[in-house]
Amino acid sequence: MNLQWRSASVLLALVSGIGVASADDKEAWRLFVADRERPKVTVVDTVKGQPVETLQIKAPASLFRSESGRTVFAVQGDAGTVTAIASGISFEDHGDHGDIDVEAPKLTGTEIVGQKPSHVVDHDGAVALFFDGDGVARILSEKAALDGKSEVREVKAEAPHHGVAVAYGAHVLLSEPNREKPDELPVGIRTVDEAGAQVGEIAACPDLHGEASSGNILAFACATGLLVVTHGDGVPEIRHLPYADDLPDGKSTTLLGGRGLQYFLGNYGPDKVVLIDPTAQKGAFRLVELPTRRVHFAVDPIRPKFAYVYTEDGQLHQLDIVAGKIANSLKLTDPYSMNGHWNDPRPRIAGAGDRIVVPDPLQAKLHTGPQRSRRP
Ligand code: ZN
Repeated sequence: MNLQWRSASVLLALVSGIGVASADDKEAWRLFVADRERPKVTVVDTVKGQPVETLQIKAPASLFRSESGRTVFAVQGDAGTVTAIASGISFEDHGDHGDIDVEAPKLTGTEIVGQKPSHVVDHDGAVALFFDGDGVARILSEKAALDGKSEVREVKAEAPHHGVAVAYGAHVLLSEPNREKPDELPVGIRTVDEAGAQVGEIAACPDLHGEASSGNILAFACATGLLVVTHGDGVPEIRHLPYADDLPDGKSTTLLGGRGLQYFLGNYGPDKVVLIDPTAQKGAFRLVELPTRRVHFAVDPIRPKFAYVYTEDGQLHQLDIVAGKIANSLKLTDPYSMNGHWNDPRPRIAGAGDRIVVPDPLQAKLHTGPQRSRRP
C-alpha cells in the first residue's frame, strides 16, 4: 500500500497504530495521526487505506495508546489537557476464539487538565498521567476514560519536574525530583500507598527517564542502569540492575517492553540499541550497533521474536531478539537526518506483525513493509 495522503500539507507528527487480528483471520488496523500544527487527530483505516474520521481537540498533540488498544490519549502540552479517544477497536477473547468489535472512533468526553502534561503510563488498565508543570500524577482507569469520566486520583511529587508515575496495584511509583535542580531529570522512585504515604526508602535512579513493562516486570531507566520492579510481599520490590562494565559509556532514556518474550529494548547512544534481559544472572545487556543514527524503534506485539528500528538512512531494520542482531533491512524512504529539532517530522514505526506501517512525512505517504505474507 502506498496511500497517497489527501493533503500534502499535513505533516505526520506521531502515529499510534491500533490493530487486532482474530482467530478467523479478521483484521482491523487503525492509525491515529496527530497533526503537528493543528489541533486534530486523523484516524486512518490501514486495511482499506482510507481516513475514517477527523477528531477536533484543543492543541497539537502527542498520542499514546493504551495496552488494550481501546483508548488513545491525546497529550496537548499547549492546552494543558489530556483527551481520551475511543479507538473503536476492541477484541473480546472467548477462550477458543476471539471477536473483533469495530465502531467509529470518538472523543469519549474525558479531559484531564493540568500544567504541562508529559508522560502517560498504562499499567494493567490504570492510566497515570504526569503533569510536569504541577509535579502531579493524575490517575484513572481505562474503563473510566472510555466511560467519559474525568475524576482522577492525584499524587503530588515534592516539586514540579519532568517526571513519570506508574499506578502499580494499590501503590503508586512516582519520580523523585532533583531538589537542588528541579529542572534536571529526577533522581529516584518514591513508592506511596493508597493513603498517599511513602513506603520504604526512595530507590535511587539518577537521570531517570524512560519506563516500560514486560510481562510481570516493570523497569525504569537510570544513568546507572535499570530499576527493576516486581510484585513483592505486599509492597513493590525494587532492585537496581547496573549497566555491565563492558558496555561503552551511555545510558537508555527510552525503554520498550517485549510482548510475549520478556525483555526490554532501550536506546543507547544515537546509533545503538540495547537488549536487556532483566532476569539474567550474566549477560543481561546485549548491544546492537546500527548502520546510522536511530530515528525510531518499536517492539512487535504479534511476533514476539522481533523488534524494529528505523534509521536515518531510510532503512527499516528487523531485529531478532533471540539472536540479538539485525535479521533483515529494507530501504523504505529517502534519508531523514537526525540533525535539527527533535520534533521535526520524521518516519515512525506504527503497527507490527503483517503490517509494519511507516509514515513518510516528506512524501506525505504511508509505506508498508516488510512482511506481506499472512501469519500461519
Ligand atoms: Zn520525557
